[in-house]
Amino acid sequence: MSGIPFIVSAPSGAGKTTLCKKAVAFFSDLRQSISYTTRKPREGEINGVDYWFIDNAAFDSMVKKGEFLEHADIYGKRYGTSRKDLKKILEEGLSVILEIDVQGAESVRGKLKGAVYVFILPPSLEASEERLKERGKDSAEEIRKRLKTAAEEIKLAPKYDYIIINEDLDEAFEKLKSVIIAEKSKSKRMMGRVKEGFGEYL
Ligand code: 5GP
Repeated sequence: MSGIPFIVSAPSGAGKTTLCKKAVAFFSDLRQSISYTTRKPREGEINGVDYWFIDNAAFDSMVKKGEFLEHADIYGKRYGTSRKDLKKILEEGLSVILEIDVQGAESVRGKLKGAVYVFILPPSLEASEERLKERGKDSAEEIRKRLKTAAEEIKLAPKYDYIIINEDLDEAFEKLKSVIIAEKSKSKRMMGRVKEGFGEYL
């Protein structure tokens, strides 16, 4: 059985990365898709864990070879999801979180069978600004750019299957966990197991 791709988008400062990391630590059959980016690593980020950090020429070469399922330019940097890496995870029967922006989510719509779309919102844009400042890893200019984009991204929230407002981290995590558990329990995804145990009755 193939795993479920969870597409998670959020404006900057909504706490998406923290929530996704918690989910991956919680579910033994859930993995994080590691994107490729031309952005420089932030302090503490590790190549191959947070992202694959590559240069423009390497990114171009991957684009040319058709290696990306989707890729996007965000705040002047490039980000992409490897087709091959994703396929490998799903074929192992594992589910996967793709933390990608709204453009990426749009471009995988229809391409990724069974994908579930989750949008994380901060309680307000002011709260996002505070979180980005507290994180202290982006310049004032970078934060300004991210907040401006956030206002545009929020317009696309209604296209997602689920919306989680991250006012309180524990509560938001409970909601994300519930979404993942409910999706795994959908009858269409459970039929393999049901047939195994109860095939004679079906
Ligand atoms: P950051 O630079 O803060 O790590 O990420 C900036 C934005 O890029 C976030 O919205 C993040 O979800 C998005 N992003 C990260 N990886 C990918 C990717 O592979 N594809 C797309 N489309 N967006 C990505």
